[in-house]
Amino acid sequence: MILKLRVTSLIAIHILILLHVYYFGSDVVGSIDFQEFFHSFIKLGVINAGVILVFLAFATTLIFGRFFCGWACHFGAIQELSYYILKKLNINTITINSKLVTILPFIILLNYYVIPNFYHSLQNPWQISISLNEPEIWEFLPGFIIGLLTFIIDGFLIVYFLGKKGFCRFLCPWGAFLKIPNSLAFFKVRKTGICTECHVCTDQCPVGIDVSYEINNYNKVTNTNCTSCLNCTTGCPSNALSYKFENPLTENINLKNYFYNPDMYKHNNISKKFLNIRSQDFSFLMLTILLSISVDSLYGIGHFLAYGIGILLSYIMIFSLKKFSKLFKIAFISIISFITIINIIIKFSIWNGDRYYDLTYSKNIDFNEQIIYSKKSIKNLERASMLYLIKNSKRHIKIAQLYLTNNNKDRALKHANIAKSISPNNNAPEKLLNFIINNN
Ligand code: SF4
Ligand code: SF4
Repeated sequence: MILKLRVTSLIAIHILILLHVYYFGSDVVGSIDFQEFFHSFIKLGVINAGVILVFLAFATTLIFGRFFCGWACHFGAIQELSYYILKKLNINTITINSKLVTILPFIILLNYYVIPNFYHSLQNPWQISISLNEPEIWEFLPGFIIGLLTFIIDGFLIVYFLGKKGFCRFLCPWGAFLKIPNSLAFFKVRKTGICTECHVCTDQCPVGIDVSYEINNYNKVTNTNCTSCLNCTTGCPSNALSYKFENPLTENINLKNYFYNPDMYKHNNISKKFLNIRSQDFSFLMLTILLSISVDSLYGIGHFLAYGIGILLSYIMIFSLKKFSKLFKIAFISIISFITIINIIIKFSIWNGDRYYDLTYSKNIDFNEQIIYSKKSIKNLERASMLYLIKNSKRHIKIAQLYLTNNNKDRALKHANIAKSISPNNNAPEKLLNFIINNN
């Protein structure tokens, strides 16, 4: 019954999303995205639909736990569906037991959403304003190909390699944000009957929590990944569990119970379904961050997809390649290393080229400095253009301007023509071309 209700809720959410996107548009209500809380509220003080969603999610999590993740999140639903399909196909997945579950989502949350927006708000003090129809629905959403890849990698492959709700556990920054109110939630799964330690609850938990261990040692589920899905309470053959309110003032809060205990996931009934990789967590974390950063923002890849790619490749390289021949291992690692090095060079070149471009046209520099900066910018931007598979009109316009500053009109003309061939309908390359030709 509860499962049916939850499935109905998730289907209803998807219908609402489709209605919002294709029927109502952004006229009244704009993007309802979690990241609005950071990009709009923390950064600018703007309250929009996404911000209201986050306030609601935070407040309801304080009362009911992270039920939002279990009952309303489309990404969580995709992963549960993926797990269900894999099970139906008799493909057994193992759920990975790693410290990254705690560390990585917080790194993503702080690094990409909290710190930069908070820093911006300190530099540019804001006043609260309300703007429900902004930003536009697609403002921060990826295009079709990147969106599809995100679903395949973060919704399906991550479940195949890292187990139950791999994305929610290892990467989701919104989940990390809701962990704090979740730890204080009034309603929790609690032990209210006699438990036979059959571990059905642990087996049925879609987030990979050792429910049996927690309820038998702490009398409740303390794991902040719990999404209040209630699979465990309804699935328990002994009726030993209830989703129950406890006054927060009298609740027994022992911080120790919120952390991993080495005795978890050891029971014979479930031990084969979990793999402990904690001894290799450091190399797993470092490699994941390196691979993720190397692709993040290149080719339209957003943070979610970048970290999905990063953690999967990292997991495969450290743990899965053991089964393959030495030759295959060497070939795989060499290809990934080569692509990573190229991507890092491209990212560094774009960053450095743009930095020197800004310096070239900054105030208070003399002509000699301007020439030195412009040459450095050209070198970096040309390198980026040569290595980057997607041609960028704006970058070629910049290079053309820099060559003009260096009085090299032939090269300026060449890059303005390239910019025009990339974006024939854009006015900027045409204007630049006319300027170069008329000033020849
Ligand atoms: S399913 Fe019920 S009886 Fe079995 S371990 Fe969990 S709480 Fe105990
Ligand atoms: S502990 Fe129970 S309620 Fe929480 S996510 Fe697992 S199965 Fe769902």
